Amino acid sequence: MNSVRSLRSLKGKTALVRIDLNVEPGEEKHAFRVGAVVPTIRFLRKRGARVVLISHRGRTQQKNTLYSLKAFIPLLTRAIGEKVRFLDTNVVSAKDAIVDSSGAVFLLENLRFYESEEKNDSGFARLLSRLGDFYVNDAFAVSHRTNASIVAITKYLPSYSGLLLEAEIKNLSRIMNTPRRPFTLIIGGAKIADKVGVIEKLWRKTDFVLLGGGPANTAMLAQGIPIGDSVADKTYVPLLKKLLKKKKIRVPSEVVIRGKKILDIAPLAVVKYAEIIKKSKTIVWNGPMGLFEDKRYIKGSEALAKAITKSKAFSIVGGGETTALITKLKLVKKFSFVSTGGGAMLEFLSGKKLPGIEALT
Ligand code: ADP
Ligand code: MG
Repeated sequence: MNSVRSLRSLKGKTALVRIDLNVEPGEEKHAFRVGAVVPTIRFLRKRGARVVLISHRGRTQQKNTLYSLKAFIPLLTRAIGEKVRFLDTNVVSAKDAIVDSSGAVFLLENLRFYESEEKNDSGFARLLSRLGDFYVNDAFAVSHRTNASIVAITKYLPSYSGLLLEAEIKNLSRIMNTPRRPFTLIIGGAKIADKVGVIEKLWRKTDFVLLGGGPANTAMLAQGIPIGDSVADKTYVPLLKKLLKKKKIRVPSEVVIRGKKILDIAPLAVVKYAEIIKKSKTIVWNGPMGLFEDKRYIKGSEALAKAITKSKAFSIVGGGETTALITKLKLVKKFSFVSTGGGAMLEFLSGKKLPGIEALT
């Protein structure tokens, strides 16, 4: 994999940089995403390159102003410290707009306004490639997707990894290779289907697996504990029955219930989890412990987050909602590393090869 670090003078060159701005509106969430890609942009600017930023946002296959990237312009401009110009044209005329402009940093409108993006379409990738002299992937969070701006584009331009992508690979590889023990994996959130891969892959390396949210409810189901209408997925009951034979996997010993639903982990469970966290040397956390968007059910996740940040462990947190949660709690800077990847982080930690990273090697 060629790194942007290997590039020297870039005067007269234009970098086409894939970043990830796929976040819902919300000042704090935006700031986290934008902040993460600033180092690569500044690096390229310092070496004299013009920069064309590309990203997708939302689930759409056609033009839909609801998902315009225009809203990011003020924040990007402030974060980079240079005026960012918005390319609100189709991909073909964007080339002329760049050539005619005296600007140095540009942001192209949402790639998902073209259905070719998700089809990894070569023709579309070729059109995109005309916007730059070389390509940089700094979008780890999208690198598990075989999209034109992630994979096909690398056929048409010399391609490099960005600084954020490299930081993600470096930090997450530490977990894959030789995590310091005890190693505790904490899995919450809604859908256990997204999480089983990582539980199974890391299973042998872990000393503790602490469950919350939907995965915990499914485990309780496997234990024969009634869970009413709580979020769970009974397809995974057999697997959990097998895993629960080992003592290292833990289910909350006390939960917060409202009506027929389990909505958070309760103080007794927090105390037990905190004891394990305190003696851990490596912690990976994905998925909130409860329905934290409702402040009545944020306490379990908050107590858990504080226990992790107080521990001396090398701690990695990831996932869209989990990142939103720790941002809300103003704890982002207290973890060793906050991954910008949700699905991508889980796939990476499951040992899967990410197409976007493979395309660079
Ligand atoms: P991430 O985006 O961090 O990977 P997920 O997408 O897996 O996390 O899940 C996050 C969602 O799970 C949150 O919106 C949260 O409200 C929800 N959640 C967690 N625990 C529960 C629960 N017990 N009942 C209902 N929803 C829950
Ligand atoms: Mg999510």
